[in-house]
Amino acid sequence: MTDDRRNLFVAYKQEDEVLRKVEPLLELAQNYGFTLVDDYKKANIIASIGGDGAFLQAVRKTGFRDDCLYVGVSTGELGFYCDFHVDDHEKMMTAMDNNQVEVRKYPTLAVTMDHDDSTFYCLNECSIRSSIIKTLVMDVFIDDLYFETFRGDGMIVSTPTGSTAYNKSVTGAVVDPKLQCYQVSEMASLNNNLYRTLGSSFVLSNERKLTFKIEQDNNQYPIIGIDNEALSIRHSESIRFHLSDLVVKTVKLKDNSFWHKVRRSFL
Ligand code: NAP
Ligand code: MN
Repeated sequence: MTDDRRNLFVAYKQEDEVLRKVEPLLELAQNYGFTLVDDYKKANIIASIGGDGAFLQAVRKTGFRDDCLYVGVSTGELGFYCDFHVDDHEKMMTAMDNNQVEVRKYPTLAVTMDHDDSTFYCLNECSIRSSIIKTLVMDVFIDDLYFETFRGDGMIVSTPTGSTAYNKSVTGAVVDPKLQCYQVSEMASLNNNLYRTLGSSFVLSNERKLTFKIEQDNNQYPIIGIDNEALSIRHSESIRFHLSDLVVKTVKLKDNSFWHKVRRSFL
C-alpha cells in the first residue's frame, strides 16, 4: 500500500477489555507507518474492532465510503466481515504492508422511502416487519409488475453478503457475493385460499427494482431494520429497493474467500 493511503481510522467501543486489545494494535500500526486519524473523513483505511455487528456499525457511521478500504478485526470468532483476529498482529501488518493488497468489493442495497425520498444503504439487509401482533400486509412489485400481496410477519431483502445472516435464519439461500443480485425472503407468510404468496425466497438481478406498497387502511405499524439499525416508517406508503452501484471494499486474503467463510461458520 502506497504512503499516501496510510491514514487509518479505528472504530472501537471505549470499554476496558476492548481498549486493552486495541492499544498494542494502534502502536504497531504507527510503527508500520500508518497515521492514526480521529476524523474518519480523513481516512483511507477504516478498521472496526469487534464482530460483524461492529463492522456493520463502522461502515454505517462512516457513511459507506467507497473510496476507503474497510478492515474488520474480530475480538472473538472470525465472522463474515472480520478477516483478522485482534491478536494476530503479524497477519494484519503483512496484509496491509503488501503493495499488491487485493481488494474485494461487496454489493450494497439501496432503500428509498417514498414520503421524503430518503435513501439508505445496507450491507446485510433491510427487514420490514410488523411491530404489533397483527399481520403486515403489503403489495410486492417487481419493476412495474404487480407480483403478490404479502400477509405475514414481514420480509427480508438481503445482499449476497447478508445472505448468511438474517436471510439464512428464514431458510433463504446463501448467495455468492460475486453475483450482482439481491434476495427477497418471507417471514411467516399466511398462505391459504384467500392469501397467496410465492412461499419461497427469490433472487433478483441488479437490473430489477423491487417495491413494497404497505396497505394503509389497516393501521399497520411496520418497523424497518437496515442492518443493525432501526428506522421508523410510519409515514411511508412505499419502499423501493435496488442493488446500488456503491460497493464496500475490504482486503482480500488468501484462503479466505466467501465460501471458506461459509464452510468455517456453518459446516
Ligand atoms: P446480533 O444480534 O449480534 O447478530 C446476530 C448474529 O449475526 C451475530 O452472530 C452476528 O455476528 C451475525 N452476523 C452479522 N452479519 C452477518 C453476516 N453477514 N453473515 C453471517 N452472520 C452475520 O446483531 P449484530 O451483530 O448487530 O448484527 C446485525 C445482523 O443480525 C442483522 O444485519 C441481521 O442480519 C442479523 N439478525 C439476525 C436475526 C435472526 O437470525 N433471526 C434477527 C435479527 C438480526 P457477530 O457476533 O460477529 O456480530
Ligand atoms: Mn453482534
